[in-house]
Parts: sequence; C-alpha cells; structure tokens
Amino acid sequence: MVTIPTVTLNDGVSFPELGLGTYNLRGPEGTDAIVSAVEVGYRLLDSAVSYENEAEVGEAVRRSGIRDELIVTTKVPGRDHGYDETIASAEGSLERLGLDRIDLYLIHWPNPSVGKWLDTWRAMIALRERGAVRSIGVSNFTPAMLTRLIDETGVAPAVNQVELHPYFPQAELRAFHAEHGIRTESWSPLARRSELLSEPVVGEIAAAHGVSPTQAVLRWHVQLGSTPIPKSASAERQAENADVFGFSLTDAEVAALAALERGRLWNGDPDTHEEM
Ligand code: NAP
Repeated sequence: MVTIPTVTLNDGVSFPELGLGTYNLRGPEGTDAIVSAVEVGYRLLDSAVSYENEAEVGEAVRRSGIRDELIVTTKVPGRDHGYDETIASAEGSLERLGLDRIDLYLIHWPNPSVGKWLDTWRAMIALRERGAVRSIGVSNFTPAMLTRLIDETGVAPAVNQVELHPYFPQAELRAFHAEHGIRTESWSPLARRSELLSEPVVGEIAAAHGVSPTQAVLRWHVQLGSTPIPKSASAERQAENADVFGFSLTDAEVAALAALERGRLWNGDPDTHEEM
C-alpha cells in the first residue's frame, strides 16, 4: 500500500498531496473502483452532485472500514446556489452519501450570471459551524472572485479546485493561492489522457527517472504544490498514479513541462462558462 503524504490546510485539516477523481465511476463497478483506490492508499475522494455517484462513494467509504481516515469531497451544483438552497443541497448530499459529515464541500462553479455564489459561501460557513461539513472551499474561482469572497466574508477557502495540467499550468492563480494560504487542487491532472502523455518531453523526463509518463506528470503537480485528483477505474493504474513520492523532478524538468502551456482544453473559463 502507498502512503500518500499530507499538507495542512488553512483550517488545520491534514490533506493528502494526491487524491482520486471519481467522474464516471458509477454503479457497482464504480463502487468497486473506489474501494480498490482506498486499498491502494488513496484517502481523498472527489465527488459532486453532478457526477451522480454520491451513493457509490458513500457505499465505498462504508465498505473500506476506515471512514475517519477518508476525506470525502462533494460540491454544490449551480442549480442549488443561494443560502437556503445550499443548506438543502448539503442535506441531500449527506443523505445520498449516507454519511454524517462532508469532509470537504466545494462550490462547483461560480456561475457569475446567477450572482449567488456569495450567499452560497455564507451557507457553507454556517454548515461548517454546525459540523455538517469540515472544510469548505471552491472550484473554478478566479483571483478576482476569491478576493471578493475573502473581503466580504473574512473566510478564505481551504481549497480551490481548478483545471490544471502541463497544457494549463495556472502560474498566476497558484501564486495568488500561495499568498492567501489556499490549497490548489488540480482537476483533469492528466488532461484526460489526451496527447499530453505522448508528448516527447513527457516521455524523456519519465525515462530519465525510470517512471511512466503519467507518473512524471503527477509528480509535476506535487512539486507545484497542487493536489492532483487523477481518475482511474483500474486498480493497476490507481496504484501507478499514487506511486509518485519516491522520486523528484529537477527545476528544469518542472519548467519544461510547464512550457507545454497552451491554455484551457475545454473552454471552462469561470467568467463565462456555467454549469447547473
Ligand atoms: P484525468 O484524471 O486527467 O484523466 C482521466 C483519464 O485518464 C481516464 O480516461 C483514465 O482512464 C485515464 N488514466 C488514468 N490513469 C491512467 C494511467 N496511469 N495511464 C493511462 N491512462 C490513465 O481526468 P478527469 O477525470 O477529467 O479529472 C479528474 C477528476 O477531477 C474527475 O474525475 C473529477 O473528480 C474532477 N473534475 C472536477 C472538475 C471541476 O469542475 N471541479 C472538472 C473536471 C474534473 P481509466 O479510468 O480507464 O484508467
């Protein structure tokens, strides 16, 4: 079993340097895949209302027998923005998960045209105060949105989960996070297995360390100080993805991967893209 190191979030919670994405892990096979990840050593599980797999995640947590060691993440969808709506949404998530606490609760997208993410955030602060949620954070927030959130409520998110991979290294946003004590989490850290993994520079760096291209990319996230959440349905690939704590990239290799930058891959600009 792999031991995944942890960092401490701005609320004092111990948080893994790598976690499991669960998008598309549904049904009995999805539950089995999540159980196998916990057996491999994953302790951070990323779910969302919109992945329609909270029941599977909750079932896997119960089957694992180590509920207290796991950080279960879920997210408020755009359609539930607003104070009362968010409280009700959290109650729905808790029921589907079958758990008495959400460990990390995120606003999935800011949806600026709806204009309710501040009310949503205030509800999340209340949910944390009443113990229904342990850590609160956001996803797909820009520095301008984070600044407003902090200025208006005095509570900085523990985490901002954003699109991040060598094609979109997000240097400016990461610098903002570092300045404000916000942990970066990388979604689609493998760029969804696109041509990234066959980029010559990725192959060269992997070969230099005797690791796979996937491991080279995930190690890059770790060294940037961002927690990647690669999704895999296969126990073998889950183990490969978690095994990135026994080697280090050089500064030049970290820079060479970031030099693949070309921008967002799926037009998910938080100022314009909205998800309900
Ligand atoms: P990803 O993790 O970058 O890539 C997943 C793909 O890579 C799957 O097709 C997987 O296939 C494959 N893969 C995984 N490990 C591999 C390996 N070692 N070798 C070869 N292929 C491998 O993409 P993602 O699922 O889009 O992102 C990860 C997670 O981020 C999601 O599952 C979700 O939890 C979260 N997310 C959040 C947001 C947001 O807005 N907050 C948006 C997108 C995603 P197999 O399963 O067959 O291994």
